[in-house]
Amino acid sequence: MHNDIKEVLISQEEIANKCKELGEQLTREYDGKFPLAIGVLKGAMPFMSDILRYTETYLEMDFMDVSSYGKGMRSSGEVKIVKDLDTKVEGRDLLIIEDIIDSGLTLRYLVDLFKYRKANSVKIVTLLDKPAGRTADIKADLIGFEVPNEFVVGYGLDYQEKYRNLPYIGVLKPEVYGGE
Ligand code: 5GP
Ligand code: MG
Ligand code: MG
Repeated sequence: MHNDIKEVLISQEEIANKCKELGEQLTREYDGKFPLAIGVLKGAMPFMSDILRYTETYLEMDFMDVSSYGKGMRSSGEVKIVKDLDTKVEGRDLLIIEDIIDSGLTLRYLVDLFKYRKANSVKIVTLLDKPAGRTADIKADLIGFEVPNEFVVGYGLDYQEKYRNLPYIGVLKPEVYGGE
């Protein structure tokens, strides 16, 4: 598995330090509130677990699974809900937890959906931000790391469902996905 990686962009240690820092920021952000933390499956799973461990406030967790139509490495903008929330969001303070924002189309869709469902507030925390890929008008409130316009894997992020269990963020060797 490690053999398929061309370069490690963000180490396990850097991720761990950042998660602690973000969790502490969230503690301050939601002090005295009872937020609903929404993990976007499957990529946000390790990140969600690591930041909320340091978020010292009462909170609820729920999950949403969305898929964007089309099988390539980029999302098409049309979003399909694969698993919806079990929790009612009306009047709640929502924290969406994402692995990466690329085009921003997935999050644009989710934020609009939660506003339509009358959330009190909607914030976004993302592990990675790839600003060069952005086409939708969306910004995260908290960002772990900015990454260049490359396809990254590890720590939740997959290529064809593999590599989510890598402890770091890396770039695949081009031969792994048949690139040049
Ligand atoms: P967006 O809607 O912002 O374009 O991205 C939606 C989803 O596409 C992300 O949550 C993520 O699952 C996937 N994605 C975007 N860029 C990358 C990347 O560099 N690597 C991986 N593994 N997935 C990505
Ligand atoms: Mg995601
Ligand atoms: Mg994926």
